[in-house]
Amino acid sequence: MLSRILKYSSLLRDKKLSSVELTKEYLKKIAAKNGELNAFVSVDEERALNLAGAADKLLKEGKGNLLTGIPFGVKANIAEKGVETDCCSRILKGYRPTYNATVIEKLLSSGAVSLGKNNMDEFAMGSSTETGSHGAAYNPVNRDYVTGGSSGGGAAAVASDMAVYALGSDTGGSVRQPAAFCGAVGLKPTYGSLSRYGLIAYGSSLDQIGPLTSSVADAAIVYDALRGVDPRDSTSSALSVSAFEKLSGDVKNLKIGLPKEYFEGINPEIVNTVKSAAATYEKLGATLKEISVPSLKYALPAYYIIACAEASSNLGRYDGIRYGYRSRDYDDVNEMIMKTRSAGFGKEVKRRIMLGTYVLSAGYFDAYYKKALRVREQVSEAFRMAFDEVDLMLTPVAPTTAFPLNYTSENMIETYMSDYCTVPVNIAGLPAISLPAGTDEKGLPIGIQLIGAKFSEPLILNAAYAFESACNGGKEAENE
Ligand code: GLN
Repeated sequence: MLSRILKYSSLLRDKKLSSVELTKEYLKKIAAKNGELNAFVSVDEERALNLAGAADKLLKEGKGNLLTGIPFGVKANIAEKGVETDCCSRILKGYRPTYNATVIEKLLSSGAVSLGKNNMDEFAMGSSTETGSHGAAYNPVNRDYVTGGSSGGGAAAVASDMAVYALGSDTGGSVRQPAAFCGAVGLKPTYGSLSRYGLIAYGSSLDQIGPLTSSVADAAIVYDALRGVDPRDSTSSALSVSAFEKLSGDVKNLKIGLPKEYFEGINPEIVNTVKSAAATYEKLGATLKEISVPSLKYALPAYYIIACAEASSNLGRYDGIRYGYRSRDYDDVNEMIMKTRSAGFGKEVKRRIMLGTYVLSAGYFDAYYKKALRVREQVSEAFRMAFDEVDLMLTPVAPTTAFPLNYTSENMIETYMSDYCTVPVNIAGLPAISLPAGTDEKGLPIGIQLIGAKFSEPLILNAAYAFESACNGGKEAENE
């Protein structure tokens, strides 16, 4: 097993290691590597060691679960009581939530150990972590390249083993794309399969929390621990099912679709990697089918209209009155709000608020926002029809491997376009996983994406597990 969680969990249970020892080990790794990678924007050592002490007590009593005592990182947009959760934005500098997100509550109550906050793009708007107020995180494979984003800090922390796993959020690809860029596994669960309570909203109808891990088994374990309906999130659902115990690696007779629209404009090295992954599946007994889903092309423009519209509304609450940054120099309340928002938000966030306000404004609402909602329906329907034909889809995660640093700020439209392979899943509320499948000629990781119908997490995780086992067969045998 390549699972870090299973490895540490069994050491903890067999009393060969304590959570305090394990946590110290990870804090040491952070101290050694974070200066170079900027994957964590804050680490609370004392809190982590206290949590580890409590975990050791639980373990001594024979209580807890697979995640008890295991250290993890948290994206800076997921609320933790008393811990600065600034979304990597100046406007939320110093904001310490008075409550825990449901996912945090679940993890902490089972004795998991939160290490600190992972770097991200400001309010999760971006693809590189370069829009965040703490500066970019660096790709652990090669520091001249970005980690991807927006959950880039978490992906880098996991890939460089500064955290056993991390929680990210995915509105249009923010878990899957950085996972692909850094060589980690990233799961974007079905919309509603786990609670968004305490996830600071970007595009509420698209946002979903998901795990970043170093193996598929770990993604399944964390998913199982987080999923479930929550009375605090009215969009959460009771339909999700657990995945870990269903990891058999058996994909015989699985029908895998290769949607041809996903292969247009993709770097040839990535196309080859996905095709060779398809061949691996065929060898494992799955059947491949080339399919066509033409409306996928419209998902990207619809995404940028819907995400910006929702962001413009969600970010209306940062007015300097209730929390976060407030400008000091003003004559009346309007000026205070204007100055606070002008200085508090970065360039990319302001751009999206303006775009969102524009598409929602009286004269343009029908032409943009309403049309985007209709496209959304079409894309969802196209996926529904495709899943009558195939069990899941295999696609690239992104058209390129990691961008060089500073590339995105000068190539904004191209960066938006690079979300082409990930956003359709959010538009339709589907689950998808990104997992490592190779490297390009520069040695940068290449990911593949598996997409399933709603609540098919067990199916996509099992298919990912089959591929991972096939690729790592030799390595796994050595480790055991
Ligand atoms: N890159 C996409 C964007 O900038 C996705 C972000 C996300 O999933 N949070 O909107």
